Amino acid sequence: MNHLTAEQLVDLAEGAQPPSSVTHLRACDRCRRELAEIRSTMSILAAADVPEPSPLAWEPLAARVSDAIDRERAREATIAGQLRAWTASIAASFIRRRFRANRRAT
Ligand SMILES: [Zn+2]
Repeated sequence: MNHLTAEQLVDLAEGAQPPSSVTHLRACDRCRRELAEIRSTMSILAAADVPEPSPLAWEPLAARVSDAIDRERAREATIAGQLRAWTASIAASFIRRRFRANRRAT
């Protein structure tokens, strides 16, 4: 079962689409619980009195977010590369075994 992603749950919590339109929610307690927790957290945050940050804070924050995104993309690229190498290694091993089995059979 593929659970809803964090992005989908947040969209539902924000009302981007009605939860009744997502059939997975009807069948999955875990996703319903996560949606309820996100809604609860959003309502707590909405009620909190948070002062507006200084305009000077946005530029360093944007730079930090951009750096974090770059690091995450580099990490994902590494994982994807490892997965491709692993898949190629399994395929090579499978082909070697088939080749040896064919040689023995002939
Ligand atoms: Zn689920």
